[in-house]
Amino acid sequence: MIDLRSDTVTRPSDAMREAARDAPVGDDVYREDPTVNRLQDRVADVLGTEAALLVPSGTMGNQVAARVHTERGQEVLCERESHIYKWELAGLAQHAEVQPRTIDGGDRGVPTPDQVREGYVAADGHRPGTGLLTLENTHNSKGGVAIAPERVAAAAAAAHERDIPVHLDGARLFNAAAANGVPASALVEPVDTVMCCLSKGLGAPIGSVLAGPEPFVEDARRVRKLLGGGMRQAGMLAAPGLEALESRERLTEDHRRATRLAEGLSRVEGLSTEEPETNIVLVETDRPAEAFLEGCEAAGLLGGAFDDHLVRFCTHRDVDDEDIDEAVAAAERAV
Ligand SMILES: *Cc1c(COP(=O)(O)O)cnc(C)c1O
Repeated sequence: MIDLRSDTVTRPSDAMREAARDAPVGDDVYREDPTVNRLQDRVADVLGTEAALLVPSGTMGNQVAARVHTERGQEVLCERESHIYKWELAGLAQHAEVQPRTIDGGDRGVPTPDQVREGYVAADGHRPGTGLLTLENTHNSKGGVAIAPERVAAAAAAAHERDIPVHLDGARLFNAAAANGVPASALVEPVDTVMCCLSKGLGAPIGSVLAGPEPFVEDARRVRKLLGGGMRQAGMLAAPGLEALESRERLTEDHRRATRLAEGLSRVEGLSTEEPETNIVLVETDRPAEAFLEGCEAAGLLGGAFDDHLVRFCTHRDVDDEDIDEAVAAAERAV
């Protein structure tokens, strides 16, 4: 079975397993796990932030960020297809107790500076006030599009004009960096805080990192505890995370394979694709997506339904060129 449902289905490499076994550890709630501290320092260094905090998942990282940045009852500006709004169980309402105000970010999934200004609400006797702008890079629902640093900077600057902080959901930030040919820090520089997943394209078994200024990360540590995310000998997770982080150069291989997959699928009758920018391939299907996916599964290929006639395939470190060709052949048999 070729599993292209997500870039989270990878198995830890031997090097990751060895790193976990051999990691020096301590109790991270006492801040005494040397491997967690090393990972956090390294991520802060790579992202160009003052500090970073290991969290169990990307969702927790985003939710902690929203809670720290905002006050109860404020509004949060987010793109209408963004993960933090759409796929996190209304966590903004449940944890931060804020009201999302959505913006249609078009096919790049990023609001323009004018859209940010229009969405902004000043606090007065009737209106709650805007507390945060969130952005997403790469943008998952838009097909893994890699947002350029200038676009991120323009949206962030419009928020900063009004003293609104900006949080970047960078679950696949390193894919965005690789596709733009820039260091990840260039995509982080315009925003205040960022979350990145070690467990997606990078292939770590568990873990995401929330990064930003020192005082923000101090507050984030308290909220992480509140949400049940204080961990003990978490060096066992941080060690494979470090190993994964240092392998980020290879993400371009996933991107190349996504392009190869999209080219192959676009030649299959009843399917159409756009040229992918990173490791996500969105496929429009003539038939209902679920029916197409059932056929794929019977032919040895797994993907995910994104909409009634839209399927997502995701390349990752556990598939090679042969698997991609086999995936195209399976899709052919399915239609
Ligand atoms: C996967 C994902 C998340 C959440 O990460 P989890 O580790 O699955 O909680 C957040 N944002 C985006 C864009 C994602 O793709």
